[in-house]
Order: sequence, then C-alpha cells, then structure tokens
Amino acid sequence: MNSKGNIFNIQHFSIYDGPGVRTTVFFKGCNLRCKWCHNPESISPKNQIEFYSDRCIGCGACFKACPNGVHVLDDKQMHMINRAKCIGCLACADVCFANAITAVGKYVDADYVFASIMEDYLYYSNSKGGVTFSGGECMLQIEFLYEILKRCREKGIHTAVDTAGNVPWSSFERILPLTDLFLYDIKAADPALHKLLTGAENVRILNNLERLSASGKQILVRIPFVPECNDGQIPGIAGILKSLNISRVEVMPYHKLGDNKYTALGMDNELKAVEVPTEAMMDRAVEILVSEGLNAVKT
Ligand code: SF4
Ligand code: SF4
Repeated sequence: MNSKGNIFNIQHFSIYDGPGVRTTVFFKGCNLRCKWCHNPESISPKNQIEFYSDRCIGCGACFKACPNGVHVLDDKQMHMINRAKCIGCLACADVCFANAITAVGKYVDADYVFASIMEDYLYYSNSKGGVTFSGGECMLQIEFLYEILKRCREKGIHTAVDTAGNVPWSSFERILPLTDLFLYDIKAADPALHKLLTGAENVRILNNLERLSASGKQILVRIPFVPECNDGQIPGIAGILKSLNISRVEVMPYHKLGDNKYTALGMDNELKAVEVPTEAMMDRAVEILVSEGLNAVKT
C-alpha cells in the first residue's frame, strides 16, 4: 500500500524530538485546540496559505491566479484575504515569487516521505537517532503513519511517535509493534481545566497513557509549561505519572516563536499577552516532578 496523507514539513537534523539526530515529519491536522499552540498551521487538516504582508510587493499575480477571488483590495487599497472562500488549491502560493504567500500542507504518499527519511539514513546509526512523527496529531492519519512506520521498521530505523493521545486505543494498537518510543504530551491533570485549555477532556488521553505504560513501550512525557494556564497543574500531573512506567519527563517552556504565524494565518492568538516562564518557575516544576520520583528535566 502507498496511501496518501497531508504533511506540512519534513525537518532534517532535528535534535529536539527524541534521541540522537532525527528527521521529524509533521502531519497536518489536530483534534485539540491548545491555547498556546506554537504550530497553529498544524491544526487544520486541510491545505492553507500563510500571508506575510510585509513581504508583498503588490505584483498582483495572486489576484489573477486565485480561482475564487480570495485576494482583494480593501477601500484603502490594502491587500486583504477572504479566507472563508479559500479552497486551499495553493495556486496563489505557486505564483508569489516574493514569498509573501507560503503554502502549508502537501498531500504526499508514504513512498515520498520514506524517500525523504532515507536521505538522512547514515546519520541515524552514527548518532543513535531516527525518525519522529509529529504534528498536529500524527495518529489522526493512522494508516498513512502505519505505512511509513512499516517501511522504517524494515530498514531498522528507530521510530518515535509524538502524540497528545486523544485518539482511540485501537490506533495505538495499530502502530505499537512498529514504534520504539512515544513522546506523550500531558497538558493538565484537572479534566475541566484541560477542556478549557485544549477544547477536550483528558479522560481518554490518560486512559491511553495508562494502557501504553502497561504495554511496556518506552514513554517520554512532555509537559508544555504555560504561565496563567497550566502552571498550577504540575503536582496533579506528578501524582498521575508517578505510578506509571515513564522513562523521562520533559518540562517545555511556553515560547512565543509561533506568534507571527497566527497573524499570517488570520487566526486569533489568545495568549498574546502571556509572558514566557522564568527559569525559577521551570526549576520549581522540575523539582516537584523529581520529588515524586520521576526522571524530570526542563528543556
Ligand atoms: S503574488 Fe505575492 S507579492 Fe504579488 S501581490 Fe500577491 S502576495 Fe503580493
Ligand atoms: S489557496 Fe487557492 S483558493 Fe486559496 S487563496 Fe490561494 S489561490 Fe485562492
């Protein structure tokens, strides 16, 4: 089988998504809406455009290329984008040589992704690295993910799946034999707060984590640490994790690197005014986790 899926990036030589040097494949589409998401381009499962107005030279090519009249001038002759009419054909991005419009999303097949992974093959064995599948939520495109994982397993490549865990357990079962490591995001212990912050309750996420732990698979839990959102949740999370089989916990500081993407995608950024955490706040979070016997670090 060579099924297709939608990805928005393949990052080579990544050192943040698991052990060693890795290739990270970013799948498009997510079923959570975390207020702090630094990859807002990953949320929609469909193709999108980002528009960086400061790069636009006003050549007008996109106006002509768009079949739906999405690009218009407002009454002040400013370039506006009527996103409700956009069908994601990406024709405007193809003709924008100023790079003011960039395409987000690409439907590709498993062979295409695997060929890109194989470009880095030599680096994996030298660094004890491998491939990480991320997103968005890569497990929402489970058959596409399965097929790429299968190709990696045939070549003996180490595989990691980065997930928020909000998928049916049957999806985990599908890929368990082909996955070496799970990078598992935990965002809050309290179900009501989790729903408020991410749009979904955490019952299924925590049940899946428990079952994954029982399976004996290696699990690295990642906690995004976001002031004014989930910074009070660390003791509760520690209480959940301490009885599970978790090899490592990473506390990741909220950052603002994704802020300009919200503007480029025409999306609201609810946390615009929230500051990044201090080192002291991060250290305290790690201390709490370590005091419960967890192998925790900040990143
Ligand atoms: S094609 Fe690019 S540079 Fe030209 S008007 Fe459109 S956005 Fe601006
Ligand atoms: S992606 Fe297609 S429909 Fe959307 S603005 Fe560009 S050309 Fe128009």
